[in-house]
Amino acid sequence: MAGIIENVSSIYKRISYTAQRSGRSIEDVTLIAVTKGVSVKGIIEAVDAGVRTFGENRVQEAVEKIKGNELKGLSDNIKWHMIGHLQKNKAKLAVGLFDLIHSMDSIELAGLINRYAESAGKVQRVLVEVKLSSEETKHGIGKDELEGLLRASETMRHIKVEGLMTMPSYSDNPEDSRAYYRELKRLADICGIKELSMGMSGDFEVGVEEGATMVRIGTLIFGGRG
Ligand SMILES: *Cc1c(COP(=O)(O)O)cnc(C)c1O
Repeated sequence: MAGIIENVSSIYKRISYTAQRSGRSIEDVTLIAVTKGVSVKGIIEAVDAGVRTFGENRVQEAVEKIKGNELKGLSDNIKWHMIGHLQKNKAKLAVGLFDLIHSMDSIELAGLINRYAESAGKVQRVLVEVKLSSEETKHGIGKDELEGLLRASETMRHIKVEGLMTMPSYSDNPEDSRAYYRELKRLADICGIKELSMGMSGDFEVGVEEGATMVRIGTLIFGGRG
């Protein structure tokens, strides 16, 4: 496996090529480097490669890295996103840590985030995670409940819903993700929201083709998690 810097550079090239081919621009797509299980040393190498946005899927692991001494000097330059399922008892901690939470998936969770954001004196940017896959293990709100959640969030002054996120059913074939991503884009258009977090190591080009504004990539940057 090539080094992190080579990996990042190759991913930027692929995003750029795919964006252009789809009539979009690389500026429309943010690369989120997913650092679950990745050491601080790896994170620093990714920063050196030009990555500025990082994603963690567990609050506890994130807090150790973000608040740890090793990344202190970098914290002004990088942003952290919560991309994994957010448990209600971790909402308070998450509000203190993340610029963007990708996984708001219930009115109850929205209420908690709003309350903690108010206490913290911030407006928490969030995406709503929508469950389009029928897999038991996938999180997110059902399509039918999306409008209700968005309407409830509009009354919450310390939350700003900026877009949608989804996780497709697992498959080795990136083309299998296309229907999920196209559907997410359709829902965002109906709801009049702009950001679309869709695409991972195996299928990010399909995500970009279907309108992703953020792709979440771990394995292709840092190697397998073993
Ligand atoms: C781990 C993870 C990713 C990245 O997956 P890779 O296949 O390693 O790129 C993206 N999104 C979420 C929610 C994840 O947990």
